[in-house]
Parts: sequence; C-alpha cells; structure tokens
Amino acid sequence: MMPRGLLLTAGALAGAGATWLALRQRHTYAHARARSSESAREARAAVLDGRGRGGQVRRVVILGAGFGGIAAADRLTRRLRSHRDVEVVLVDRDNYHLFTPMLYQVATGGTVPNNIIFAARLIATRHDFHFRSDAVTDFDLERRLVLTEHGPLSYNYLVVALGSVNNFFGIAGAAEHTYPLKSLADAITIRNRVIDCFEMAARETDERRRRALLRFLVVGAGATGVEFVASLQDAIAHSLFPVYPEIAPEEVSVELVEALPEILRGMPRGLADRAQRVLEGRGVLVRLNTAVAEIGGDFVRTKDGETIEAHTVVWAAGVKAVPLAAKLPGEKARDGRVAVDDHLRLPDHPEVFVLGDCARSIPPGAEDGKPLPPNAPVAIQQGEYVADQVAARLGAPIAGAGRPFRYRYRGEMVALSRNDALAHVGPLELSGVPGFLMWRLYYFSQLMGFKNRTSVFVDWISTYLFRREIARLPVERATAVAQGGEARTASARG
Ligand SMILES: Cc1cc2nc3c(=O)[nH]c(=O)nc-3n(C[C@H](O)[C@H](O)[C@H](O)COP(=O)(O)OP(=O)(O)OC[C@H]3O[C@@H](n4cnc5c(N)ncnc54)[C@H](O)[C@@H]3O)c2cc1C
Repeated sequence: MMPRGLLLTAGALAGAGATWLALRQRHTYAHARARSSESAREARAAVLDGRGRGGQVRRVVILGAGFGGIAAADRLTRRLRSHRDVEVVLVDRDNYHLFTPMLYQVATGGTVPNNIIFAARLIATRHDFHFRSDAVTDFDLERRLVLTEHGPLSYNYLVVALGSVNNFFGIAGAAEHTYPLKSLADAITIRNRVIDCFEMAARETDERRRRALLRFLVVGAGATGVEFVASLQDAIAHSLFPVYPEIAPEEVSVELVEALPEILRGMPRGLADRAQRVLEGRGVLVRLNTAVAEIGGDFVRTKDGETIEAHTVVWAAGVKAVPLAAKLPGEKARDGRVAVDDHLRLPDHPEVFVLGDCARSIPPGAEDGKPLPPNAPVAIQQGEYVADQVAARLGAPIAGAGRPFRYRYRGEMVALSRNDALAHVGPLELSGVPGFLMWRLYYFSQLMGFKNRTSVFVDWISTYLFRREIARLPVERATAVAQGGEARTASARG
C-alpha cells in the first residue's frame, strides 16, 4: 500500500497541475474574447491582402509548417517581439504540423494518428504569428508574390520550407504499386493494409496466395525502413498472431530489401550491424545487395532477375524535393533540391531563403562536396539560422548574423521496438535498454504539446503491457502519389 504522505503529495501535485491547466485555458479564452473587430481585421489583412498594409508593415512569409518552417516562425517572432511593424505569416496546405519520426508507429498501431499532429493554429497563437491554410502553386519573385490556390500573398522576405516527396528513382511500377510512408494518410493506409492482408489470408484456402498476402516487403534500409520493419514484426508477433488463429507464424514473412551491402548507412558500423542481428533474430529477412528493378501489383522483380511474390510493398527508399521547387530559379540537383548559397539564400534573390528537405546546402569547406542530408535536425537548425538572418535585416540586433550556416551534428537514434534502440549521441554509442530509454526521452521531448505527450506516453505503456491498435480505421482508402498529386485507392491494388 502507498504511504499516506506520498498519497497526499501526489494528490496535491495533481490538484496544482489541474488548477494550472484550468487557469491557462481560461486565459486563452479570455484573450480570444477580448479580441476587437479591428484586430480581427488586421489579422485577416495579414493572411489575405496581397499588398501589405499600406506599405508600413513589412511581411515575412514562411512556406511550410514542417520542422524547418515552424523553427523559423518560432525563432523569428521571438527575435522581433518589439517590432510591431513586422508580420510573420506561415502558410501550409495542411493546418497541422506532422511529427514524421513517429509515422511508423501510426502505421503499425503503436499510437493513434491524432497523437503525432499538432494544430498549426495553436502554434501560431502561442508564438504570435499568422497562419494561412492554403496550397502554394507558384512564385512571382520579380513582384515578390507567392501564388496560392486562394490568391497571391506579397512578402518582403520569403522562406521556402516545403519539404520533399517520395523518390521512386524511376523504378517501373514503384509509384503505382507500393505503399509509401510519408504522410499521415500513408501511415493509416499501411495500418489498414496490414490488417486487410491478415483478414484476407485468414479466409484464403490457396496456400501460395496466403503466403504472398502475408509477405510484407519494405524497400529501403535507412532509419525509416528499419524502424518500420522492427515495429511491424513486433505488431505481428505480439498483437496480430494471438487474434488470428487461422494463421501460422511460419506463413508470415517480413522482409527488408536494400540495394547497398549494409543497412543504416551513416550510423556507426557497430550499431548498424547490431540492428541487423536484432532484426534477423526476431525473424526479419534482411536482403542486402538487392536492387529492385520492377514492382507489380503482386510481385517485386530484382535486378538479378529474382521474382518475389508479395502483395504489400512499403516504400522507404528515399525522397526528393517537392515538385514546386523546380519553379524557383537557379540550379537544381538530380533530386530536385534547390542550390542555395552558404547563407541559404537563392542566388540573385537575397530576400528568398530555401531550407530543409527542398534545399541543397553544401557545408562550407566540405571536402566531399556532399550536401547536408534531408532530416529534421538539419531543417530545424536551418530554420533558426534563417530566422536570425531575416531578423537582422529587419533591424533586430543579432550577434554574428553575417556568419555562414554551419550544421552541428548532435547524433542519431533508431528505434528497434521492444526495449531496444540505437543512439549515437556525441561520443556515446548506446543500444539495448539504455538506447531505448534515451530514444524515448528524446522523442518525448520533441513532440509538440502537453496533450500529445501525455497521450503518446499512455499509448507506449498500453502497447507494451497490452497490445497495439488492431482494428481497421474506418477511413477512405485514399493516399496521394506525391509526385503527381493524383489520388489513388489502396483497394485498387488489392
Ligand atoms: C516516415 C518518416 C520518418 C522520419 N523520421 C525521421 C527521424 O526520425 N529523424 C529525422 O531527423 N528525420 C526524420 N524524417 C525526415 C524529416 O521528416 C524531414 O527531413 C523533415 O521533416 C524536413 O523538414 P522540412 O521543414 O524541410 O519539411 P517538412 O517537415 O516535410 O514540411 C514541409 C511542409 O510543407 C507543406 N507543403 C508542401 N507542399 C506544399 C504546398 N504546395 N503548399 C502548402 N504547403 C505545402 C507540407 O504540408 C509540410 O507541412 C522522417 C521522414 C519520414 C517521411
């Protein structure tokens, strides 16, 4: 039994927490009620008016509410707190920020979709910038306009942080027949697909077809592919097998396909090799040196001529810049990323900054000439750097604003599910339970919002103690092929 003193302290803490939350809510609502029609008009002018407010107000438009865009908007409003003549407008077609590092958990029933998104409006309200939910369609840099589905938006400074789309590297059938893991809709589609395959296999009498339905191939053994297979294998072993008595464990196969001779390129070799051993020990088939040549509705053909029967192929093999990046002037890399100078500016347009997954930024002095990788820490650090650049130009005192951008590598983590993760932090190389604790703490701190953190924490505990979500989510089976933007249905791929 819990000692009485401890019980009283816990009760007092809970009470204080609840009071603080209630007061915070009341403050937000009171603030909203006190808004005058004049301030509402000003807010509308900020997100609608294509010309600014009579030339007195300078406007910074940030495109993309991803890691880079949010970091830029957040830092910029902090830097410009006393500059009432500057408005910051964040634009995104979705009205939420997506926490991509946990997409694989949604795809494998480890958490629910709502827990990994955060309303852009809440971030805008808390940090005092404007938000416009709209899709960007083009740029008119000469007239300093961003063109959107709902009209133009003028700017004095522009920050482009529109991210990336899947890169299928021109492999025949990959865009049509694979399940990419890039958006929230993709993650929900994959979750439903795995469950559908189990249901179809449970009533299938043809043994060969049943095995093909139960073969889950993941292309790409980078961090996303590895985390997804580890979590999928865990979901199958601990949550699906117990409730599908029609299916024998040996009929199910989870396979990781990689063109390179190793998984997790870029991670310290000792950690990457350990990850491979862990996956193989849990029954994942790791196929290295296996380049995919063609993908059909129920097969994958490799460059060596092998045909693997599989109805579900998850694509985790790489990204390229959003197609919209091609509309910006200047040089582009093969993956569509826009070449920027060492201050992340577009050449010939010092008022336009490009960052994150859609920028090709080569660290000054890099001997190999390799651009920075497309990942969240790069986008965040670039967002903060660009905010300082813009703030300095708008008159805020920023020390060292003239310096070129320098990326600081702080480490990398890869979850292997069930009490295991790899963590490379500074000189530390952790794995097993210490790596797992480090990973959980880090991602927990990175998630936005108290509510999301609490829900994810509860999901982690309940997944561990009980089981994952294993019911189909009753949603339209639509997923966007990012390349062309056209919609297709998962059912069409049966
Ligand atoms: C499954 C998955 C797992 C990942 N895991 C990790 C990880 O563990 N660690 C890590 O460091 N990185 C991870 N990444 C990579 C990381 O998500 C990206 O590198 C990072 O999000 C890039 O930030 P960004 O700001 O450039 O773009 P994004 O975060 O992608 O943001 C771009 C924003 O632009 C918006 N947008 C795009 N086009 C338009 C348009 N036409 N109009 C309006 N808005 C538009 C999008 O809606 C989006 O909100 C992962 C990526 C994926 C897909």
